[in-house]
Amino acid sequence: MTCSNALRGGISLFSSYLKEMLDFAFPKCCCICGRLADADDRFSKYEDFSEALSGKPSGLHVCGKCLSSLAPYESDKRWLLCLSDPYDGDPCPGLPLYLPLAYEGMVKRAMPMIKFGKKPCLARLFGCLLGTFMASDSVHADLIVPVPLSPKRMKERGFNQAAEIAKPASAILGIPYADDVLYRNRNTNRQTELKGNLARIANVTGAFGVSEEWDLTGMTVIVVDDVVTTGFTLHEAAAALYEAGAEKVLCAAFAGSRQIKLDEPF
Ligand SMILES: [Zn+2]
Repeated sequence: MTCSNALRGGISLFSSYLKEMLDFAFPKCCCICGRLADADDRFSKYEDFSEALSGKPSGLHVCGKCLSSLAPYESDKRWLLCLSDPYDGDPCPGLPLYLPLAYEGMVKRAMPMIKFGKKPCLARLFGCLLGTFMASDSVHADLIVPVPLSPKRMKERGFNQAAEIAKPASAILGIPYADDVLYRNRNTNRQTELKGNLARIANVTGAFGVSEEWDLTGMTVIVVDDVVTTGFTLHEAAAALYEAGAEKVLCAAFAGSRQIKLDEPF
């Protein structure tokens, strides 16, 4: 062993001892439920993704109990219709929606933390999970785009959670990502704050446009949102992408309820 190799080995050993001592002295808490989470509880695969994507550890800790509350749908149940009951003149009826997880358990607790607690790292964890599910289901496309926030909401929150989910999914799938394709024409209300489908349709109808910089002719595009409730938002984003020449649009959300969807597109 050369001197420099011995030195590197010594530093590495010291670093691992130091890390163990720090873990012992300052035990980590689960970022979802707040329980103590020891090193074994970390979502180690996510750490690999996080380091590969950003060059540094996420610092996130998720306990085993929270991780076990993830409720994935069976592989053959992850594709469904974005709107099971398209309206007259619907520009994109039969729009496929990929939805891997139920909106419950850890996901239900984490989503408000992402939106209101400013935790983009949690959104990125979900993006890694979404990408992993989609890769296991061999989903292909030419481009991944997030549902955009309005400039007003972007300023309030500081980040777009759909973008933070879409970016790692794109990296895992090896599909190019772009966040300058879709934009919002106007400020909209939060869909979750509106009562009734009519109000939600009116809120997002025609709310999206596609940048003139982009020619989507012949492309298959995946549009990603965080959580799907009624599907209207993704539907309107998809309509704008079709309007800009996309050959095929696939919608994807990290989590949601299947109860509003009655038919299967595949
Ligand atoms: Zn937990």
